[in-house]
Amino acid sequence: MGLSRWPVHPVPIDGEALSSWLGRIGRIYGCSVADLLECGFGFPEIKISELDVKAPRELLTAIAARTGLPVETIERMTYPGTVPFLSRSLYTEAVNWKFENCSVLFEPNGLGSYEKLTQWFRKQFKSTVNGCRYCLSEYPNGGVLLGWMLRVVLSCPVHGVMLEPGRKVAEEINWVNEKAEEAPKLVCRLDSRSMAAVAEGFVQLPGGLVSAAQWFRLLQTIFQELNAPLFVGDSDRIGWQLKIWDVADYFPSGPLETLKFDKSCSLLIATAIDQMETGKFTPTGKEGQLFSGHELCEKTRFVRSTSENEIEIDFIALFKTENAHPPIGPPKV
Ligand SMILES: [Zn+2]
Repeated sequence: MGLSRWPVHPVPIDGEALSSWLGRIGRIYGCSVADLLECGFGFPEIKISELDVKAPRELLTAIAARTGLPVETIERMTYPGTVPFLSRSLYTEAVNWKFENCSVLFEPNGLGSYEKLTQWFRKQFKSTVNGCRYCLSEYPNGGVLLGWMLRVVLSCPVHGVMLEPGRKVAEEINWVNEKAEEAPKLVCRLDSRSMAAVAEGFVQLPGGLVSAAQWFRLLQTIFQELNAPLFVGDSDRIGWQLKIWDVADYFPSGPLETLKFDKSCSLLIATAIDQMETGKFTPTGKEGQLFSGHELCEKTRFVRSTSENEIEIDFIALFKTENAHPPIGPPKV
């Protein structure tokens, strides 16, 4: 079916989610996203809450035909187009092999892998939003960003405030909180990297450039290591771990797989990274040098040592494996 091109559409905002952009297109033509899906593209069965997480390729192609934008640009407004590995329950064998036994803060303890964070995405609802009230001050013209839908992203690094829940009412958002809450600087710094991973596909760290897939794997690994049972390791390790818990006001409260990732969880990871980056803590894990920056790596690859041999990980090849599209510009860290 050949779809005719629409005369106008708003330019997508950097990092904007597909559902948000379609909402802004619909306003121009005086119709809802549901109307657009049904009458504009011929996909009445698609739920708006699933647009950013699993929009079918045929829909993306139809949107490309209507707007004249490349289908790759539209796919990058969805999670499968930016961080596909987060939406897969299982990693591919090749990717698993490359990141097997990832360790950052400490050497692997030989007890096997810990539980993983698996609830990466916030539930999406048609009438609510989780975002920054300043970025959305021009709503409905302001864009809802894809990165805000990740549970590990809690703040807006641009405005230095915590993301907050709001309810969409007609042409405005009613924020649940009375006013914005200032975000800890370390949380903003962590979130600026996660937002860069989603928007650009890679993150610049002191020890080199890492792909988005590796960034989220590192983040998960650090969190797992900081949740190690308190009988693991020597007294120095346990003492340091407890100190970081204390600074972040964190205490483990159940399995990581069902954890509600909150400010204390984010502060926990951010504080550990800050300790490595400021030289207050020397990591002994294999990937620790990415944060300590003691051994600067080449920009396009890093070398990971194993007991048997050295494995060169080609960043570009890895990126092609794990991301649908190549990076679109320099990282905004
Ligand atoms: Zn903002």
